[in-house]
Amino acid sequence: MSEKIIPLRDARLPPTPLPSAVEAPTGLLADALARPLHDLRISVTDRCNFRCVYCMPKEVFDKDYQYLPHSAVLTFEEIVRIARIFIAHGVEKIRLTGGEPLLRKDIERLVAMLRQLDTPSGRPIDLTLTTNGSLLARKARALKEAGLDRVTVSLDALDDATFRRMNDVDYAVEDVLRGLDAAHAAGLGPIKVNMVVKRGMNDGQVLPMARHFKDSPFILRFIEYMDVGASNGWKMDEVIPSADIVRMISAEMPLVPLDANYSGETAERWRYADGSGEVGMISSVTRAFCSSCTRARLSTEGKLYTCLFATGGHDLRALLRGGASDAQVSTAVAQLWRARTDRYSETRTINTEGLAPAARKVEMSYIGG
Ligand code: SAM
Ligand code: SF4
Ligand code: SF4
Repeated sequence: MSEKIIPLRDARLPPTPLPSAVEAPTGLLADALARPLHDLRISVTDRCNFRCVYCMPKEVFDKDYQYLPHSAVLTFEEIVRIARIFIAHGVEKIRLTGGEPLLRKDIERLVAMLRQLDTPSGRPIDLTLTTNGSLLARKARALKEAGLDRVTVSLDALDDATFRRMNDVDYAVEDVLRGLDAAHAAGLGPIKVNMVVKRGMNDGQVLPMARHFKDSPFILRFIEYMDVGASNGWKMDEVIPSADIVRMISAEMPLVPLDANYSGETAERWRYADGSGEVGMISSVTRAFCSSCTRARLSTEGKLYTCLFATGGHDLRALLRGGASDAQVSTAVAQLWRARTDRYSETRTINTEGLAPAARKVEMSYIGG
């Protein structure tokens, strides 16, 4: 039996200092490697109804696992307050994630509140959400009506037995497909479908998934299995490089590379040579994109993470609940972003057993993907 790993929720970082002087946001914030702040991912819950083997394995996230107490979780009002500050600093895109964001009670109300926020030049922000799709059939219309622009849906297999093995809670493919159709009917597009590929688990599903979503309204994206968190027992030889996936698909359905939609796009885009749609490759392990990483992450309890692989977050909730003014929180955010040097994926070293460093990285279910 494997030893139970208790995932570290957060390393101890010194408290985020309250700035002595305040500065006005310019919308032009850049970090120490000249990367602007453009995207904010907000984790609205650390809970999930799935136990994906690569994210929240059952051995760790069992009935004894201590989720955050209600009082620790940011309220909608606190989330919106932080989001407004980030938008003033240049954020144009907000993604709600988790855990499973659709488990958060009244999530539509948060969407409606965030919808009210525009960029300093008056443009609406791009408001999206990543979900496992299990509650989407029920919620798609309300989310659209609340002002959500798009959804990204995770689906790791079309074969039911494989999918059930991966989500580990016996959830059926059919229900996610119904969620996708509901989201499409509600106008939550363009809809992306994310498939994490883990060798020996679902690599046999690459071609069935490609065939299924070719010529459909959905854009399928393959994600390399990453060494996030401390509980999935990641090994390099379980990663299928995107280049292999491109070769695999191209042998049956030829692919042609496409230009990126914008600088910093995480997925490399490919289109089918016969004109029947596109697929994306997110090569987080084999082709790191740290040099153009413009993403900040806000955890469920209000910690700011400047990298998916960070071992600790900066406590913004303490500032908020300690009575800091918006100008003080905004200045603290500016100082933290300016100091950012993270580039974990570009510097990741793999040891001879194919394992990533044992640093106690934060769980993805806690800060969101
Ligand atoms: N529960 C939602 C979902 O599954 O879409 C949102 C949160 S989930 C953490 C966000 C994304 O992270 C999903 O697309 C998931 O497949 C991906 N993910 C989780 N663990 C991963 C890992 N070890 N490697 C690569 N992607 C991972
Ligand atoms: Fe839940 Fe998403 Fe993680 Fe799967 S990937 S366990 S659905 S948070
Ligand atoms: Fe961004 Fe960190 Fe991922 Fe690099 S490793 S792309 S800095 S989140």
